[in-house]
Amino acid sequence: MVRLKMNREEFAYDCISLIKAFYPKEKILLHGDDEGVTTEIVLDRFLEGNVHEIRMTLSEEQTTRKSRFVTIEGDENSLENKRLLRMAYKDLIYEVLSEAKQETLPWGTLTGVRPTKLPYSWYQEGMTETEAVNRLMTEYRVSPEKAQTAAQIAMTERELFAGIDVSKEISIYIGIPFCPTTCLYCSFTSYPIAEYQNLTEAYLSCLFREIQAVSQMTKGRKVTAIYIGGGTPTSLTADQLRRLLHTVRENFDLKTVREFTVEAGRPDSVDFEKLLVLKEEGVTRISINPQTMKQETLDLIGRRHSVEDVRRAFALAREAGHDNINMDLILGLPGENADDVSATLSEIATLSPEDLTVHTLALKRASRLVREIDRYEDLTPTDTVESLQRTITFAKEHGYRPYYLYRQKNMAENLENVGYAKPGHEGLYNILIMEEMQTILACGAGATSKFVYPEQNRIERADNVKSIRDYIERIDEMIDRKRRMPLGG
Ligand code: SF4
Repeated sequence: MVRLKMNREEFAYDCISLIKAFYPKEKILLHGDDEGVTTEIVLDRFLEGNVHEIRMTLSEEQTTRKSRFVTIEGDENSLENKRLLRMAYKDLIYEVLSEAKQETLPWGTLTGVRPTKLPYSWYQEGMTETEAVNRLMTEYRVSPEKAQTAAQIAMTERELFAGIDVSKEISIYIGIPFCPTTCLYCSFTSYPIAEYQNLTEAYLSCLFREIQAVSQMTKGRKVTAIYIGGGTPTSLTADQLRRLLHTVRENFDLKTVREFTVEAGRPDSVDFEKLLVLKEEGVTRISINPQTMKQETLDLIGRRHSVEDVRRAFALAREAGHDNINMDLILGLPGENADDVSATLSEIATLSPEDLTVHTLALKRASRLVREIDRYEDLTPTDTVESLQRTITFAKEHGYRPYYLYRQKNMAENLENVGYAKPGHEGLYNILIMEEMQTILACGAGATSKFVYPEQNRIERADNVKSIRDYIERIDEMIDRKRRMPLGG
């Protein structure tokens, strides 16, 4: 256990996140008693005039001490000064821990979910891509490869939205929280459809009311993207899907929407009829997600579908006319190594989807994998870094370019999730949600609306309840929560 002591705690969260990256298997405790503590880190800040001194003491087998001095002009609590102080803490922690542990982190001192936000904002101030790469490497200690990737992705995002003031538009998310079964690593709002069959109609009628209400709230605003996710939307019947898509069409002018995505994620949830409904009702982009093409892993993670089902679902989607298909993969699944990933990639090459999203497994507390972690200890994945490298090489060789990137807590090897696309097929919604560029109104159980106010550099959230029963009972409240918020932009 690692204990952190601080005389001022305003940057405790950032410090803990960075320390955790160096001690991924340890619990990090802020203060607390001595029991079980093997490492102690003390971070104290002292002020003399306008110079802040941050002192760090690391006590493990040996004791290391270092300091950083930061000169702060004006209000210590201004956004810029807080940024400087936060960076000084993190830089000091990074230097001490990387020396003590003889280890560097691919993302350096960046601990946030959205590393591309920085270069994106720098470009708006006129910085070039090369300058952004250098700044990421020098100020944030990001590795050259990751700095290059983040800077390139931010530039692609900028190009994709050139000439569009996305903050003046809005996007819509619709959640269908049902799946055929629950995957081992799942932490989303998802319920097995067979057990909730008797509630799906009541759920849908509330959802339709919410969609209608959101359409009223957003009258006069152009909609950039509509995204139906979950869960697995195609867990619904073809008739339910058609009614859902009709409701969307009735309430939003699809002719002006730039992208309409439906996740048909689980191959065991789709058939030709459903895929045709999606196409006929104006969906422009779908996802069919294998995660891996290794059958033993699919069985282990509770997907209850075969590799052949993935091939079949993909072929049916093409037959139904879908020409923009994304496939999700996960690296770091239990028992998998880089050769398994290569075998999956050669199957993907044969299918040739337009988009490929590569996730690195993140251990989420709400998942069965974390609750039952002891059962999977023998199946610790190997060479996740090498696996990621193979996906990067694969993407380059097959004409995909990275267009969005995000990180999560507790990801294997501190890595990242990357969305690749063949040029012209990038998923706009993915970028909008990751870069927090505009207000996104969300309907359905467990869905979170985000209200973006760019002039004030402020984002507000409105969460819908997660339980299906609560959602049905409290639908008016869910609608009111959104109605009370100004749209922003
Ligand atoms: S398909 Fe996705 S949402 Fe459904 S159980 Fe699996 S991980 Fe969760």
